[in-house]
Amino acid sequence: FDSTMANAYFDEYENLEIHELMLKDRPRQAAYYNAILGNKALFKDKIVMDVGAGTGILSAFCAQAGARLVYAVEASNVATKVALDLIEDNGLTNVVKVIQSRIEEFVLPAEAEKVDIIVSEWMGFYLLHEGMLDSVLLARDKFLKEGGLLFPSECTIFVAPCAVPSLFDDWHSVDGIKMNTFASKLRSQKSSRPEVMHLNPKDLLHEGVVFHWMNLLDVSASDLDSIQFKEVVTAQKAGNHQGFCIWFEVRFPGDDESESVVLSTSPLSPPTHWKQCVVVLPEESCESLEEKSPIAFQITMKRSAGDMRKYNLEVDLLDPNTEEHPMPCSCHMTKC
Ligand code: SAH
Repeated sequence: FDSTMANAYFDEYENLEIHELMLKDRPRQAAYYNAILGNKALFKDKIVMDVGAGTGILSAFCAQAGARLVYAVEASNVATKVALDLIEDNGLTNVVKVIQSRIEEFVLPAEAEKVDIIVSEWMGFYLLHEGMLDSVLLARDKFLKEGGLLFPSECTIFVAPCAVPSLFDDWHSVDGIKMNTFASKLRSQKSSRPEVMHLNPKDLLHEGVVFHWMNLLDVSASDLDSIQFKEVVTAQKAGNHQGFCIWFEVRFPGDDESESVVLSTSPLSPPTHWKQCVVVLPEESCESLEEKSPIAFQITMKRSAGDMRKYNLEVDLLDPNTEEHPMPCSCHMTKC
């Protein structure tokens, strides 16, 4: 990464309000808590690395789950400003070693064993925003023992056609004044960037299809450069097709008996700070659909050339009969 951009990225994490947002996100907390403390057998006497430890909370969970040693590696100054004290206040200094370093620059102490488990909370909006997964994969390749575990271990991105009434239908008038022109300009502004918002589940026109699935043990950083998906779905209910909703799910390892923990950011799951990511269609591509109408589309996520941490998101509506671009194709949008 370009070093100025890297610094700007880590500076953002020096703002404790970002950590506040994450710590208050109950589904996030519950997933990591249950995945780690609900699987003590996996952690007992193990060596763990927490990639991007932040306040140190996940490292503390691992220590409480019985880990023998936890490397809490954090690039920002939250490592020294918060994590060190947090570990001390919770009486875990014998187990958790807080290190302020980018994982890319971290080296294990001489003669030290590699780690049994890597824990990390690296997910961004639509999963890949922030590009932090690259750092986790680097840690995996450098520090994880053969047969070691990743928490989380699998992730899935979903996409579903949806209505976006908060942008399209709720704007006919404001206090009795017609707002159609404003609303249309607002939409055209918004269709140049995806909206991060909580989508009301009733606005989904389909339960969603898997856009991409990854096993983090075998994915490589170059696999994250471009992801493409083409599909035809049939609307599961009638409604206005005004956008595509994108969300993700991550799954944690568990023993064979208990069901593995899943953290879902679906509109149907309890809300998280990731919300959902909605690609808004331009006006002329929106259609009022009957139940069972086909919707053919292609969606591409491509790493931005100028900033490795961002993606360009492109959605193309296709002709369901031929899966070719309809003429004229007016719904080609580059995002972010
Ligand atoms: N684990 C904490 C924080 C998660 S946020 C929690 O769950 O609450 C992600 C953290 O990873 C941020 O604090 C960020 O500064 C850190 N981070 C991101 N990339 C990193 C890298 N390459 N090396 C070290 N830390 C990194």
